[in-house]
Amino acid sequence: MSEPSIFTRILNGEIPAEFVGETENAVAIKDIAPKAPVHVLVFPRTQEYRNVVELAAADPALLTEVVGLANTVAAELSDGDFRLVFNTGPDAGQTVFHVHAHVLAGGLDEKSLG
Ligand code: 5GP
Repeated sequence: MSEPSIFTRILNGEIPAEFVGETENAVAIKDIAPKAPVHVLVFPRTQEYRNVVELAAADPALLTEVVGLANTVAAELSDGDFRLVFNTGPDAGQTVFHVHAHVLAGGLDEKSLG
């Protein structure tokens, strides 16, 4: 069993976070270092998938749940339009290897890439 990810530790209540949505198997929190007026992270409660490719291959229904929660949060916190970013691999900027979607909304520019 790998070390708990930062997101698992948030789910366990060890690290505070601002929760903005949840479903049975996924949650949404505000990013600690926002790169857009709305910058939310949506991730499965389980940390068993390191990135979106693993998640899509193993559990497409859970990926659908993550995308649906992203859509719900974007509609609640902004006008409904949003950018969805899954950094995949260190060279792409991924730093947390517990799959998560960046939901960016509310006045985006070209730098709002998660
Ligand atoms: P990645 O670089 O892996 O695509 O995204 C990780 C994201 O997690 C970053 O945008 C970073 O700001 C965010 N993050 C890292 N640590 C914490 C934390 O303790 N709380 C919250 N809310 N976000 C975090």
